[in-house]
This record gives sequence, structure tokens and C-alpha cells, in this order.
Amino acid sequence: MLTLTSLGGAGTVTGSKHLLSHGDTHLLIDCGLFQGLKNLRELNWERLTIDPRDIDAVVLTHAHLDHSGYLPKLVHDGLSGKIYATPATRDVAELILRDSAHLQEKDADFANRHGFSRHAPARPLYGVREAERAIAAFAPVRLHHSVAIPGGATLLLRRAGHILGAATAQIDIGGQRIVFSGDLGRYNDAVMHDPEPVPQADYVVIESTYGNRSHDVADPVEALGRVIECTVQRGGTVVIPAFAVGRAQSLIHHL
Ligand SMILES: [Zn+2]
Repeated sequence: MLTLTSLGGAGTVTGSKHLLSHGDTHLLIDCGLFQGLKNLRELNWERLTIDPRDIDAVVLTHAHLDHSGYLPKLVHDGLSGKIYATPATRDVAELILRDSAHLQEKDADFANRHGFSRHAPARPLYGVREAERAIAAFAPVRLHHSVAIPGGATLLLRRAGHILGAATAQIDIGGQRIVFSGDLGRYNDAVMHDPEPVPQADYVVIESTYGNRSHDVADPVEALGRVIECTVQRGGTVVIPAFAVGRAQSLIHHL
């Protein structure tokens, strides 16, 4: 029998971890950190309901921290199976996990030096060493290539249109097909491919973060242009993150 248990990412947005079990086979789809307020972050310190040594493999839909950030802890606690993801997700996860480990080490160090931690000494959830071990456990899977994973299962990844490398994960196991959407992007995005359709599935586990909202039909480029124009006219300042500067410059050019 196939069972699905959400260990995170259900009832709250972060900490995505979905355990798909069939007989003795346990596959974990995504392995995210809980983020946000302290009561959510504290969930990262709770023991999982499954021993990481009993997880045969992890399938990672994309590298965002709320989907990947618990991997170093899982590896430290005994995961010996592989982490399947697209090559681009592996590369982005390498940056994100190293950064996450580095920040946690610095935070713990800062708390210890200033003595404001309830724990003595304060320690990080994981450090750079654990992040390196998690990175070494990745097994890159190309999009549209069906691969065998533990438990006689097969995995097929398709574009999810979310961030670089993001994929939907189609898993065939025990005669059933179950698809995990991960986070999905929009159609007609300026820099991302459209999410690819999934022709058939017995079950679909789908992201629903914005499921109760409709996207504005206005062109976001024009809407942003109006904001910039209006702000410039009244002598205001527009703060643009570094990654969006190119886009904004071409916009201003058109004004
Ligand atoms: Zn995401």
C-alpha cells in the first residue's frame, strides 16, 4: 500500500517534506527548513517521525531553502541514500546550503560571544561540513529522463517554471503514478520556461500557496513602469534589488 505523510509544508508554507512509503521503501520528496517566526523555526530541532537511516532516497524539486535546507541535518542524522535532483538544482543547492550553514555557524558564534542564547553553548542546526556532505550525496537527473530509484520506483522530472532547475517529480511506484508539483511558476514569464504539462497521474500533490488568489491580469512590466514613473515624478526613490536592475533599466529606457 502506498502512504503519504507530510512532515512539513502542510498547514504552513515552509519546511516542505513529504514522505512517500511503499512497503519497506521510504522516499522523501523535498527536505526543507521551517522558516519565519521562532515557533516555526523551532520545528527544525524536533526529531522527525521517521529515522533518517530508514529513508532510501530524497527527491528534491528545487533548491529554495524551504525545500532543501534540512538536507544537511538529514545527512548528519543518518541518511545514506542519494538526493535526486536536476543538475541545475544541485548547483543552486550547493550555494544555498553552504550559505545557510555559514549563517547558522555565525549566528551560533555571535550568540555565544554575546551570551544571549538559552542554550549553552548555542549550536547551529548544521555547519558547513554537514552541508558539504549533503552536496556530495546529490545524484543529478536530467529533465525528461526516466531513472530507476530505490524500491523499484522510477522518477521523471519535468520543468516547473519556478526557479532555475525547478522540476515537477513524477514517481512510479507499486503500480501507481504520483506527481509532486513542488513550487510552480507562471506562464509567459520573462526569464523562465513555462511549467510543463503532466499527461497522466493517479495522484497529484500540488503546491497551493497562492491557490486562493487570482493573478492580476495587468502586465507586471507596465504596472512596475507606472510605479517607477509616478515615484520619479514626485521626486521619490525606487529601491530595486540587484538582480532586477537589468530589467528595470530596460523599462526606464522605454519610459
Ligand atoms: Zn520555491
